[in-house]
Amino acid sequence: MMRIVILTGAGISAESGLGTFRDKDGLWTKYDLEDVATPQGFAHNPRLVHDFYNARRANCLAALPNDAHHALARLEAEFPGDVVIITQNIDNLHERAGNHRVWHMHGELLRALCASCGHRWNAPAIMTPQDPCPACHALATRPDVVWFGEMPHMMDDIQQALYEADLFVSIGTSGTVYPAAGFVRIASAGGAQTLEINLETTGSVFDETRQGEAGKQVPAWVDEVLRQA
Ligand code: NAD
Ligand code: ZN
Repeated sequence: MMRIVILTGAGISAESGLGTFRDKDGLWTKYDLEDVATPQGFAHNPRLVHDFYNARRANCLAALPNDAHHALARLEAEFPGDVVIITQNIDNLHERAGNHRVWHMHGELLRALCASCGHRWNAPAIMTPQDPCPACHALATRPDVVWFGEMPHMMDDIQQALYEADLFVSIGTSGTVYPAAGFVRIASAGGAQTLEINLETTGSVFDETRQGEAGKQVPAWVDEVLRQA
């Protein structure tokens, strides 16, 4: 059975209107990364951090999956082998397109986490520093997202999937944020073919690179894979 492992980044959601890190007028440029995406930033100003993720949550709920997300859902449904998506995105567009095997290594915008007891629950539209944890009642509610300096989720499963992959495909990620940036090397060392689909070339070590918008390139690639399957 052939195993396909797909890594997605902010670029796959760009055509849905959710900005990438480097978008000129995106949400990220109005805030300092250190302020909104580190545990230190949250300790210093939890209100600002909640406001930032509240805004991103609203954007996410207003956005729709694009042709790239839909194509990956078709791949999971129709490919006779194994398909798993590892995403750095905290939006839920893969799930809303219909994918079932989605591993959120950087957490999820729509989930809340208690920093005190580790309990997780569905995030309300607006989170505040005054929200008590439903389990332990501590005032330590935070977005269930992985910040810089924190350990990404599911690393053991990811490692295993990368080693077992026959084909590794990276879509819409700049390859600048580790550990995800190193996945191509792990997959390659395990014997996988590697393909990058991105608007720009990232200079990483892929067997093949397809340059262009995910909304065009991903459906074309999925068509090819399903035709050959
Ligand atoms: P990034 O912003 O560093 O890189 C995005 C890449 O996508 C760039 O290389 C860009 O050229 C490419 N791109 C832009 N538009 C594209 C399109 N239409 N089609 C194909 N490629 C396109 O994003 P990253 O690599 O995911 O950065 C990692 C961090 O950014 C992660 O921690 C992630 O959680 C966070 N992030 C997530 C979201 C989201 O959840 N939607 C949005 C912004 C940032
Ligand atoms: Zn708690």
